[in-house]
Amino acid sequence: MTNPKTKFIFITGGVVSSLGKGLASASLAAILQARGFKVRLRKLDPYLNVDPGTMSPYQHGEVFVTDDGTEADLDLGHYERFSGVAATKFDSVTSGKIYQRVIDKERHGEYLGATIQVVPHVTNEIKDFILSHLDGEDFVLCEIGGTVGDIEGQPYLEAIRQIAYELGRDRVMFVHLTLLPFIPTAGEMKTKPTQHSVKKLQEYGIQPDMLLCRAQMPIPENERRKLALFCNVREENVIAALDVSNIYQVPMAYAKEGMDRAVCRHFGVPCDKPADLSKWEHIIETIKSPEGDVSIAVVGKYTKLLEAYKSLHEAIKHGAIANHRHADIRWIDSELLEQEPAEKYLKDVDAVIVPGGFGQRGTAGKIEAIRYAREHQIPFLGICFGMQMAVIETMRHVAGIQNANTTEFAPDCEPVVGLMTEWDKDGAKQIRHADGDLGGTMRLGAYPCHLAPNSKAAEAYGTLDISERHRHRYEVNITYEKALHDAGMDIIGKSPDGKLPEVVERPDHPWFVGVQFHPELKSKPFAPHPLFVALIKAALTRKK
Ligand code: GLN
Repeated sequence: MTNPKTKFIFITGGVVSSLGKGLASASLAAILQARGFKVRLRKLDPYLNVDPGTMSPYQHGEVFVTDDGTEADLDLGHYERFSGVAATKFDSVTSGKIYQRVIDKERHGEYLGATIQVVPHVTNEIKDFILSHLDGEDFVLCEIGGTVGDIEGQPYLEAIRQIAYELGRDRVMFVHLTLLPFIPTAGEMKTKPTQHSVKKLQEYGIQPDMLLCRAQMPIPENERRKLALFCNVREENVIAALDVSNIYQVPMAYAKEGMDRAVCRHFGVPCDKPADLSKWEHIIETIKSPEGDVSIAVVGKYTKLLEAYKSLHEAIKHGAIANHRHADIRWIDSELLEQEPAEKYLKDVDAVIVPGGFGQRGTAGKIEAIRYAREHQIPFLGICFGMQMAVIETMRHVAGIQNANTTEFAPDCEPVVGLMTEWDKDGAKQIRHADGDLGGTMRLGAYPCHLAPNSKAAEAYGTLDISERHRHRYEVNITYEKALHDAGMDIIGKSPDGKLPEVVERPDHPWFVGVQFHPELKSKPFAPHPLFVALIKAALTRKK
């Protein structure tokens, strides 16, 4: 049940896409948290995929994974990194999922003969998603994906309009994120696109309470007045979201503009005490005055679209901050290493990461990068596919089994990495079939792992029992454990039943670790992930 005191903040976007609604929502949550409020963030995506799991990273960037195994929009990563609140399957929904539920209910006869319509059946399902599975939060921030005016977004706007009507305007706030473009030839900041976007929202019966305006410079008094008057928003609720050089500056920037005070004022919540933003100040100070650089090569496939590696990018930054360094990240397309020697790209880097991935393209280059890091004693972290490739590299180049590969794309290989069709989750058996559905059927979410003492990973974590998030279909084949050991690679982390290799290391190397899970998903600026901290520490030791 919803706490009758829980307040809902709906964040919509106008004018253009890519204004950073996710970051804006996460930052607003962070400053409300800094005032001692309990917050939760939710994302509603109007597209028709059931989840983003089957989409190419070029479509929507990284697929974020929650502990409970939901494949979700990458904005949930921002939410977790900024608020520290672990997201769940109840925090991310798409139109595909909403329609699937409605149609399932219809097939079960739950609507008792009614004609099924967008209003009320789809909108009720959206309202249910927003209002259910809450835990006494002070504020629930719901971000509506897309831009106001999109056909797909209309049921969401109708649903949040109804929630405001039902709960009352003192429990709901509408925040509209827009853009104030600066036209150099006119020397002016333009408010018209925002006015049009607000008119569009008003057509749907939504009156924004706050305009959060992306702008390159402070909003001149005249423009602020114009926006307030024409958009029907209090002048002090026209907030400038100025460009900043680092995303972790956003919460402080919003607080400076008075965004949290405006929210408190809207809800009639006292805000006499200032927000405690000291942890954000500390992070920004460390980012601004590093003790030097550390260069990290990320050898992957989607290097042209950094959104595809969003969490990884942030986790590397967190690891660098913890070591008081600036991360000089070199995104290297692995296919380049298939045309030229790895040395050209890797000879002067301090560490190498091969991240997760799917499919054969670029794998030969990844294997070359791993070979170079292994032979030249460069600290190396292989993540998921990167770990699988590291195992294949050792089997091919150290054990001499040229045919070693993964059955993901080489069905007749020596299957050191193979399709896993049965495993345990929370005491229950999970069963998959080779020709089953692709969506939502990988080994997903948090799984426990036991580490061997005296390993690099155990040293980094400071414990032997860990839990990390997974998203993969193939597994390193445990039957090769002895062959791997003989080739200098040890499986030092396993699932509790000992069947699934989770972490491999090379004891003959200063820091060579491969992990089947995605550590980057849990790293936060205030709680940098131990593996990234340790990788960068090893990189700095080698540099000395
Ligand atoms: N393609 C590999 C698998 O499915 C690795 C996936 C990943 O890196 N996330 O097992």
